Amino acid sequence: MKLFAVLGNPIAHSKSPLLHNYVFYKLGISARYTRFLLESGENLKATFLALGLNGANITLPHKEVAFKACDEVRGIAREIEAVNTIALEDSRLIGYNTDAMGFYKNIENERITSALILGAGGSARAIACVLRENNIKVSVSNRSEKGLDFFKARDFRVCENLKNEKFDIIINATSSSIKGELPLPREILADLFSGAKIAFDLMYGRECAFLSLAESANLRCMDGAKMLLYQAIVANAIFLGKGEVWDSQIAGAMSEIYGVI
Ligand code: NDP
Repeated sequence: MKLFAVLGNPIAHSKSPLLHNYVFYKLGISARYTRFLLESGENLKATFLALGLNGANITLPHKEVAFKACDEVRGIAREIEAVNTIALEDSRLIGYNTDAMGFYKNIENERITSALILGAGGSARAIACVLRENNIKVSVSNRSEKGLDFFKARDFRVCENLKNEKFDIIINATSSSIKGELPLPREILADLFSGAKIAFDLMYGRECAFLSLAESANLRCMDGAKMLLYQAIVANAIFLGKGEVWDSQIAGAMSEIYGVI
């Protein structure tokens, strides 16, 4: 039997075991998926091997460490320099980033040509790279200089002043919503929303001040719930040896369980 896990800190809240185990059950695959509290990222590779894992998802705060711990990194993860999915292949740890596709699947059918990403952390990097890969003009803004080097070094547009700027989609990839805060002053957001079509917040499952404000400005609003589901669908395909692809059988099974948890 194959064994998989999600490694992170904290980890008790993770829904990943439910999602992946249901797919294994539904598709008749002999595999189990558990969760493991990884306090220090330094031990990531040793822990992965000691647990006898065939694959893992890596969550906060270890995605950047995971990138360095892998023997090989494939796909867009190489550009993002963060790994959220690892598969064991011939005793080597192969790293991927499925957050990027997990985000993009939400908006792939929308008519979007420009995006503003608020935040400069790991998820902002994943979103910026996948949007650019799909020919969407990306601008980034962060409350501090922290993390902006990544974007500047890759020629993303970094905005210091958002006055009179217009974007089709405004993406809150900061952790402000978790703290019940807005990522920018209300009047700047109101201005941005007046010229936008969609507001996206990566948080899910809670009241969100950013999306409430966007809703009152009549924008289409999306939260991070589907991103979580979609990244897990792609990760499961990697675990099953199908590669970094969208698999409709896995998507069907995982969506079924996702609807009830
Ligand atoms: P990081 O910790 O790497 O980055 C956090 C970013 O938020 C930084 O740019 C930080 O700014 C900024 N920030 C924090 N607090 C505030 C605030 N009050 N106002 C404005 N900016 C703020 O986090 P991640 O990029 O990994 O994740 C960001 C969020 O996205 C998290 O809430 C996470 O839970 C969620 N997420 C959801 C996913 C999903 O599947 N739905 C997947 C991945 C992440 P500074 O640099 O100045 O500190």
